[in-house]
Amino acid sequence: MSKTGRDDYQDLSALKLGSSVAARQLKYSLFAATLLGLAITVFQIGSDYRWIGDVYRQSNQRVVDSSMPVAAEAVLKNDAALAEVMVHGMMLQRSVSRVEIRYQDGAVLYQQKRPDGQIATSRWAKQLFGGLQRLEIPLHNSALPSSEKIGAMVIELNPQVFVTIFMSRSAWSFLANMVFAVAMAGVFATLSYFVSSKPLVKLAHYIVKADPTDAKRSFEMPPMHRHDDEIQLLGSVTVGLFGMIREQIGQLQRARDDLLDANVNLEARVEMRTRELNEAMGKLEVLASTDPLTGLANRRVFMTRLEENLSVWKRRDIPVSILLLDIDRFKLLNDTYGHQAGDAVLVSLSKLLKDSLRDIDLPARLGGEEFAILLPGEELEGALILAERLRMAIEQEAVAFGGRHLNCTSSFGVISLPTQTRIAEMDAEVAENMAMLKSRENTDLADILYSMVDAALYRAKEAGRNRCVSADLTDIAEQMNA
Ligand code: GH3
Ligand code: MG
Ligand code: MG
Repeated sequence: MSKTGRDDYQDLSALKLGSSVAARQLKYSLFAATLLGLAITVFQIGSDYRWIGDVYRQSNQRVVDSSMPVAAEAVLKNDAALAEVMVHGMMLQRSVSRVEIRYQDGAVLYQQKRPDGQIATSRWAKQLFGGLQRLEIPLHNSALPSSEKIGAMVIELNPQVFVTIFMSRSAWSFLANMVFAVAMAGVFATLSYFVSSKPLVKLAHYIVKADPTDAKRSFEMPPMHRHDDEIQLLGSVTVGLFGMIREQIGQLQRARDDLLDANVNLEARVEMRTRELNEAMGKLEVLASTDPLTGLANRRVFMTRLEENLSVWKRRDIPVSILLLDIDRFKLLNDTYGHQAGDAVLVSLSKLLKDSLRDIDLPARLGGEEFAILLPGEELEGALILAERLRMAIEQEAVAFGGRHLNCTSSFGVISLPTQTRIAEMDAEVAENMAMLKSRENTDLADILYSMVDAALYRAKEAGRNRCVSADLTDIAEQMNA
């Protein structure tokens, strides 16, 4: 696992995932609880308002109903003491602020007023229960059938007491509801912390710590969770995923190892093939430059080496000689003993050449039973001596084939390009010819030399075979023009 990977995990744990979920839960619980508390409060205040209003009106009605006959009797009997007792009773009702009992002519039998400021009215009294109210109730003589009007009772009512009751009830219900709501929110948040946030935090820490890429570490199980719910499912799924990740990484590693092995094998195979190819190319080169029957160089190689030596002759004045060798009456030998016998003679002669020559000399099979020998640095005398020696060796060699000993002879043409000193000693015509030869291109020169030595060979055949004849340097001009 890379260092960067571990650092990412640490950054992740710094986020404190779980705690922020819990905080959010608490926040939203409080919000919801506050709304609910407010709604309940509003409902309670509404019903309190209706109830207190009813009580206020009913108590007023009761006061009026119960006092009216007594007030009428007091006016009729002109009994101020009765009126006083009755009004005292009325004033016990705290919403009654003044009572006046008077005669029909307006004279007052008795009146009582609550001292100013004992119950102050607030503007709420007006808004909630209609404010101060003044009732003037006519008093009748109930004893007479005409029910004659004998006076009036004036009652002034102040709803402030009910306002106070209403206000304090409202305040208490608001307070109680809010406390209850907050408490409920706390309980709910705590429960949900234990039910979801805390197990989630634990699981998050487990995921952060676990490293599924480290195959050497055994898997730890996710934190214990007793409930068969989504959180447990999440834990199981996580372990499953870790297993899959580890499996995949294992597969990748194996694939990489296989690839590396394949690469190594491939390199070895490429190396082997290259070696085989080089060997094949070497063989091909040998095939292209070697005569398959005798193993000698072929015409192409011979001509190339000859041209190189012509350059050396021209530039460094080093002599070079060529022997051209042809087996005498070879057709007859073939016809008499068979082609294979002829081949055996060719092979044996090749071996003889190889064995008799210096390392720098190049024997080659030009074709059929015709051979050429390149002698670098050799003057004509040396070349003729060698040709003669080879001719005699061939003559004396008996090739064993099919229980027989085959003998054959050979004819030689010899040519030599001498040093400048030797040329100077030659007669003027030859010297001039040599100068002309030197001016020729190597390929041309090689062809001219070949035809000249071939002519010498022809003369050897003409002269009766089994002999060596050197080329006639006087007919160079003739050869060059041919
Ligand atoms: P001469 O003395 O005039 O050279 O006579 P010759 O019979 O040697 O000359 P000729 O050119 O008439 O015949 C050459 C023969 O060499 C003809 C051919 O069958 C034979 N020959 C050429 N190549 C091979 C070879 O690779 N193997 C064998 N066995 N014979 C070959
Ligand atoms: Mg021939
Ligand atoms: Mg021949």
